[in-house]
Formats: sequence, structure tokens, C-alpha cells
Amino acid sequence: LSHSPTLWELVTARAALTPGAPVLIEAAEDPADDRTLTFAELRERSERVAAGLYGRGVRPGTVVAWQLPTRIETVLLSLALARIGAVQTPVIPFYRDREAGFALRESKAEHFAVPGVWRGFDHTAMAGRLGARGVFEAYEELPTGDPAVLPAPPANGTDVRWIYWTSGTTSDPKGVLHTDRSLIAGGSCLAHALRLGPADVGSIAFPYAHIGGPDYLVMLLLYGFPAVLFEKFALPDALDGYRRHGVTVAGGSTAFYSMFLTEQRKDPSAKLIPTLRLLAGGGAPKPPEIYHAVVRELGCELTHGYGMTEVPMITMGSPDDSAEHLATTEGRPPAGMSIRITAPDGTPLPPDTDGEVRLRGEAVCQGYLNREGRPAEVFDADGYLITGDLGHLTPDGYLVLTGRSKDVIIRKGENISAKEIEDLLHLLPAIGDVAVIGLPDPERGERVCAVVEQPPGAAPLTLPQLTAHLRAQGLSPHKLPEQLELVEALPRNETLRKVLKYKLRERFA
Ligand code: ATP
Ligand code: MG
Repeated sequence: LSHSPTLWELVTARAALTPGAPVLIEAAEDPADDRTLTFAELRERSERVAAGLYGRGVRPGTVVAWQLPTRIETVLLSLALARIGAVQTPVIPFYRDREAGFALRESKAEHFAVPGVWRGFDHTAMAGRLGARGVFEAYEELPTGDPAVLPAPPANGTDVRWIYWTSGTTSDPKGVLHTDRSLIAGGSCLAHALRLGPADVGSIAFPYAHIGGPDYLVMLLLYGFPAVLFEKFALPDALDGYRRHGVTVAGGSTAFYSMFLTEQRKDPSAKLIPTLRLLAGGGAPKPPEIYHAVVRELGCELTHGYGMTEVPMITMGSPDDSAEHLATTEGRPPAGMSIRITAPDGTPLPPDTDGEVRLRGEAVCQGYLNREGRPAEVFDADGYLITGDLGHLTPDGYLVLTGRSKDVIIRKGENISAKEIEDLLHLLPAIGDVAVIGLPDPERGERVCAVVEQPPGAAPLTLPQLTAHLRAQGLSPHKLPEQLELVEALPRNETLRKVLKYKLRERFA
């Protein structure tokens, strides 16, 4: 009666509908090495891999960690684990002993799939150093076997089968528990907003080991179109892959929008990717200015969304939204996602009032690894996840994020939003990217510091220039930065290239 479909059921249904249609296109450095996989092959091959893994002792519920590059084989391995009903914990390929070791220890993984030597780094040796049991290499060759040995696929999408790691922006990464059901709900949110169809060609520019990976796959399964993926994603080279395969939807996080813009500005006369109709991304703040720059210069629509490891997709802008909404909001939640804005004590607040963002719905995780049940600091009395993000809903239901509760600067008892100042600073051409942080201050509690990455060739910015600009924009004096630091490059994480503010606080405190 309460059946929730599994990822494997989506794969099976799609393979029956459009078996010969492509689902994954791997764009290689040499076009002759490009590889394409159809929906039928996706199902058949991952089931054979499932049998191979079964032969090595992987059973329903067995915890398997994998740390693999974004290739067709990685998707096959991940689906094979879903077919068996194992619990998988993907580790970002760039992680080394510290983060990968943390994931292995915390998850108590019994098997660890690594690519062997990849980009000059010996993952098998690292696995040995970490004392991992059951290490196997899964790069060119995956274990395979006869599917007849396999038990029936998992009967329901409601068991915990995925452990994803948060970015560790605010503290140590947390292991987030997901079910097929929550990942499918996240992928459906994306699909509904983006107005996609069989004529589209998507692209996966971020590591498949990110929670966005299976979310994207869900979208491909629901709509039956392919995505281009890259083992080695780097602009400008990846653009050849986009052009070769006629990508219509590209994206990633905010950092990708700037990367595309930088490329386009090298030759404004020719459209960077002729077939591109939509840039879709999210996962980090987006200054309104960048929306207008993308539409004007890249000649495509930009939709931006809000997601987190705990809830892969929460809201997403849609090409059907107005330019005003797309520039200034995170879009609306899909059916089934309930957003509550509350006071710190959980009291719901009316529209247009800033407060804590709390979430309830199918896409929400089950909780955290090694933390029993649903702790009160994570889920409130009404079952809403307390996100740690701040914002408000507009009267017409769009979400506006104003910052993170840990990112609010409290100067002389006044709350100051880092994002408000960052958005204004993005209007300055002498600023490539900027992070505004609070630093401990003996007199004021905290003081406001702007850390700026300048575009190539820009004259060094000074604090008086910066504050003059903010005053001219009408920012009240108590929010003005009192410190400016110019840096070569802001510290970023490897997945969505999000700025790691805690590193800046450590450095400049
Ligand atoms: P940790 O929880 O370990 O400190 P993290 O929260 O950065 O790390 P993720 O789950 O990767 O780890 O990131 C989710 C967070 O990213 C959200 O809680 C939110 O603060 C931020 N974020 C996501 N999408 C957006 C967006 N569209 N605009 C602004 N911030 C966003
Ligand atoms: Mg978080």
C-alpha cells in the first residue's frame, strides 16, 4: 500500500521504454575516445556488475565506500550497489587520507572501491594506509558475474542506502542518511522546474560522487535524455565536449557561471555553446548581478536552486519564472516540499519576514550517521529539519536566502548579513569574488572583514574605495567593513567550489 519506488525500478522502467536511447556520453580529451551508453546497457551492465559484487560478498545492507572519478563505470558501480540493496557511501575523488579516512572510519565500510592510480595519485596505496578491508580497484574493469545469482532487488525505496558527506563548511563533515525515495524526490524537483524533455542534452560537470550525481540520473531516467560527463572537467577544454554533443543544459554551482562568463568574454562575438539554452545550478549564494550578466552575455536562461547534502533539492528557479524572480530568489519548492520560516524557538513567521529555514518533505534525509534517531537540534517538534540557513518567503511563495546562522556577523549586538554586503560588492568591477566574514574583536564582539579576489589585471582595491562604494549603495554605516584583505584565490572546496569561510576566519583572525 505504501510502496515507494527504488532507483532500480526507475532504471528498469526507463530501459523498457527507450532501450536504445543514450543516457550517458563520456566526453574524452580525444573525441575518438568518446563513449556512449544506452538505457538498456545501463540496466544490463550494472546488473552484471551487481552479480560481480555479490560474488565478492556484497549483500543487501553491506556498507561499501567508493571514491571514483566521474566515468561511466562509476555510475554502473553505484547502480549495481542500488540493485543489490547495499549501503553506499561515495567519497569525493580529490579527498585524501584525512577526509577519506574520516568517511571510512565513521561509516565502517566493509569494501572500498578505488580507481587504482588516478591522475598520478595512488588510491590503492592510500586505502592500504587507511587500513581499509576489502579494497578493490574499479576503473577500467569492474567485477562482473551472472545476474542469476542475485537475490530480488530491494522491495522498497524507504530504507537507508546512501551515506553522503556534508562539505564541512561549518564543522567536521557529517554523514547524511538517505533513501532511494529522498534522492528520487530531489531529482524530481529538478526535473519539474527545468522544463526538460527528450530533445535535451544535459551535462554533469561536478563529481558524480556528489549527491547531485544520482539526482541528475533520476532526471535522465524520468525524461529519457542523456547527459555528457567528463572524467577531467576543465574549461576551456570541456567546451569542445559541450559543442560536440550539443549540450542544451549546463550547470554546476555559482563558480561555474563565472567560469563560463570568463570564457565568453574572451570572444563576445560568438556564442560560447551554440546549443545552450539553460544554465542551471545552485548550492551556493548567487549575486543577482550574475543572473543579468549570464542572460546578457551567454544568451541563455539562468536558473538557480537551493540544496544541501541533507535535502538534495529544496527549491529551483524555472525558465517559466520572471527575470526578477530568477535574479533575486532561489525559486519555489516543488509539490511535497514544505518550507517553514521560523523564529529561533520554532514559531512560524509570516511572508517577507527573515527567520530560520526549516524543511519537511520526501527529499529530507533520515538523519545523521552515528547520531541516534531524530535529535531535537536537527528535527523540530513538528518534524521539520533545522537547516541553519536564514531567509524568507515572498508572498508569492519564492524563497530568498539571506545567509547562514553561523555566517551572521554580530557587531556591537547588531546582526549583519554577510550576503547583503557581498551582493553589493559584486557590483564593483574590481572584484572577481568576495567573502565577507566576522572576525573576533575585543571591543565590538566582531568586526566586518571583506576578503576579495580581484580579476586579472585589476588595480589593487583599497578599503576607502570599497566603503565609498557601499555608502553610495546606501548600506548603513554600522555594516561597513573595517578590514579588507586581498587574496590571490579564495579557499574553496573541491565539489561545488564553495568558499570555505572558516579557513578565512582562521587566517585573518
Ligand atoms: P557543513 O554542513 O558540513 O558545514 P555545508 O552546509 O556547506 O557544510 P553542503 O550540504 O554541501 O555542506 O551545503 C549546503 C549549504 O550550502 C546550505 O545549507 C546553504 O547554506 C548553502 N547553499 C546551498 N544552496 C544555496 C543557495 N542557492 N544560495 C545560498 N546558499 C546555498
Ligand atoms: Mg550544512
